[in-house]
Amino acid sequence: MRVLFWCDMEGIGGIVKWDQVMAGSPQYEEGRRLYTAEVNAAVRGAKKAGATEIIVVDGHGAGGDHSFNSLIKDQLEPGAEYVFGYRWGCYVEPLTGADAMLLPGAHAMSGTEDGILSHTMSTENFRSMLINGRSVGESGIVAAIAGSFDVPVVFVSGDEATCQEVKSLVGPTLHTVAVKKSLSRFAARCLAPADACHLVEMGVEKALKERANWPKPLKFTPPVELKVELAYPDKSNAFKNRVGCEVIDPMTVIARGENFWQVWDRFWPRT
Ligand SMILES: [Zn+2]
Repeated sequence: MRVLFWCDMEGIGGIVKWDQVMAGSPQYEEGRRLYTAEVNAAVRGAKKAGATEIIVVDGHGAGGDHSFNSLIKDQLEPGAEYVFGYRWGCYVEPLTGADAMLLPGAHAMSGTEDGILSHTMSTENFRSMLINGRSVGESGIVAAIAGSFDVPVVFVSGDEATCQEVKSLVGPTLHTVAVKKSLSRFAARCLAPADACHLVEMGVEKALKERANWPKPLKFTPPVELKVELAYPDKSNAFKNRVGCEVIDPMTVIARGENFWQVWDRFWPRT
């Protein structure tokens, strides 16, 4: 059984501020420790469930050379491989033939009032994203990419709002672990990190063992359309004359394709 973890930092237990997830900030090292511990717990759960190939993608853009490179290497759980430094949403090679995608540390989409640190990729660039009219955040984008390769998302951890968001998108049988409950966008009632790790480890193990209950891969009826509302009009310049993308107005870009991966590869190319 090959499984992929697409990890993010904003949904980790105990993390409530940008300062904990931005490289160079005073609290970043604390955030990294919490992130590493919880991802390790998820990997342990996958090992217990019998996963034979575990690929962990560090999906958090911390800034500079720490982007997609926040996990603390010498503390990582053995028995998995870790992907560092790869452009967000683009490492798809192992999805062909993979069994499941899991999303530890996920956060809610931009505009979610009760989502801790809610955003979609970048508050400076994007205000909202819709796939075939359906609002999605980062978790939805990753689920749709995985779905293009027939891989289901079977687990998410994060705050309560995120668990709800992903469940409503991929299906009610999704296994969720809420490690915190938002009190505002920058405040939460959190489990102790050790408790959060324990629940994540057990949740991943249970999710992977209950294959008969896995949600179906997230697929959209072709032609697939990604509509992106930009944060500022100058952000549309990058999409002018790009194949498969249409600038509808200075604040709106639409990318189209036969499946979501093709759409995403046009909107957010690997190079
Ligand atoms: Zn992040």
